[in-house]
This record gives sequence, C-alpha cells and structure tokens, in this order.
Amino acid sequence: MKNRNENKNLSEWTDKNKKPKCKCFHCKSINFIKKGFRKTEHRGKIQKYYCKDCQRFFTNDEGFYRMRYSSTTITLSIDMYLANLSSRKMRNQLKRHFQTKVSNMSILDWVRKYSLKVHNFVEKLGYNLGKEYFADETMINREGHKDRFWACVDYQTRFITWVHYSIEGNINEAKKFISKSVKKGKPKFIQTDSAQFYPKAFKKLFYTNKIYHGGLKVEHKIQNVRRTHIHNYKIETVFMKIKDRVNDFRGLKSLWSAPIIMVGLTIQHNFIEEHTTTKNQPCSLAGQDLDLGDNRWLG
Ligand SMILES: [Zn+2]
Repeated sequence: MKNRNENKNLSEWTDKNKKPKCKCFHCKSINFIKKGFRKTEHRGKIQKYYCKDCQRFFTNDEGFYRMRYSSTTITLSIDMYLANLSSRKMRNQLKRHFQTKVSNMSILDWVRKYSLKVHNFVEKLGYNLGKEYFADETMINREGHKDRFWACVDYQTRFITWVHYSIEGNINEAKKFISKSVKKGKPKFIQTDSAQFYPKAFKKLFYTNKIYHGGLKVEHKIQNVRRTHIHNYKIETVFMKIKDRVNDFRGLKSLWSAPIIMVGLTIQHNFIEEHTTTKNQPCSLAGQDLDLGDNRWLG
C-alpha cells in the first residue's frame, strides 16, 4: 500500500484549485465499481465503492472520516473564522473552551478545504432568483497588493450569483466575471457602476449592451455615480460586510489562497448567515433551504 499523506493531498488539491479525482481511498487505484451504500449520521446514504485491485470498500467523499479533530471543532472553526475571527484568535478560543490545541494553519486549511468542497456542491444546485442583478468590484488589500474582488448579487434574495478574484480590473477580467454572473437564474438586467471596462466587456462579449443566453435577453444598466450621486447601494451592504472581514484575515497573504477564502465568505453569506434586511439566508429565499440544521457548516 502506498503511503497516504493527507497534508500533501490537501495542498495539491487547494493549490491547483480543482476537484480531486475519485480513486480508491486505500491504494489509489481507479479500477473500482459502485457497490452498495454507507449510512452516515449527517449526510444520509452515500455511495460505496469496491476496489478490484485491493478488494476493499471505500467511499468517494470521506469528508470528516479521517480528520484528527471532531467535526464540531472543524465546522465551528470555519464558521467563526469566516464570521470574522482571525485564525489566531480562533486558536486561543478553542484552547479555552475545548482544551483543544489547533494550529492557526490547520484552521486556515479547514476553511480552504471545506470552502472548496461546499463550493463544488452548491454550484451544481438550481436557484430561483429575481430579475435584478447588481454587480460591483472592490479593492482588496493583500499585503500591499491592490487586488480586485468582484461580486454579483441578486437583489430579491441577496444571493451572490458569482464572485471573481483578480489582480487588476480590466476588460478581460470584467468579461470573465459578467459571463459567469448571469449564468444562474434569469435576470432582466445587470447593473454596474460606470467603470469603463464594463460596457467594453459587454460589447466584446455580446456585440451589444445586451446578453443573450438560453433565449433570454439580459440588459446592461449603468449607474453613473458621478452624475447621479447614487451609489450601488442595494448591494453595498454585502460589500461592506466582506471588506470588513477581509481586514483581519491572514489567509489573504498569497494569491492562491485569497480567492478560496473569498469563496468561503460567499458561502458564509449565501448559506450560513441570515441577511440583516430579509431575515433569511439568501439560499432559502432562492428555494434551496437544504435543511442544514443549527450547525450549518456541518449540515
Ligand atoms: Zn484499492
């Protein structure tokens, strides 16, 4: 049997930002078949596989199965970290309350690992969203670098339909961001501020200021702040919240890590916390209640 190194697997996975391939949990072989189910306490029935090479059973998603810490410690850490405690403060809290010694690096690793896992899952679900989308970008200070964080919010549910992370703001990045933002739901329009790269990105993408996708027409509206003095206030609270939380994050040091942390913040916003105005989680308003229970990250 080959040596399993969980940390190595984790960094391989997060560095390249892609899903691990399904392979035998014991010998890494891909010579396996579906065979039966395993009953789990929190995740219901999950598919079991039988490896023809080492003749053992395994499941594709071992989840918390092999983790050294309890699932409660892990999910609580993720929740508190994204709700604005730095991993250093978190580590001390855990020590006080559970006599559990956790390094702040493992807390960051958990946040990144499970953010990606949850992201891959929720991206496959369908959502009932409203007709008005508001998109904006904001500067993120990553160790002196002025990175851009882009987000598109459906006004009705306050669901963030897409986030994008880049080291600069230009037409190309705007194109990538906009084309993904309108993929979920059936928006009538998407409104941005008057930054030059938005209209140019629209023209490049669609040869017009309208997007046609799936027989639908999505209009591009521009809110010119300098002329109207009206900010994109409908989603400003969402941005304020995220910017607030970014200030204390150590995980934003490196360029590979920052986008994953932002994905985690998006999940925290869409699925974990109630929105202050609507008093609901955006996912519930979008028809995906998911029945997550009280510990929503664990759910
Ligand atoms: Zn095997």
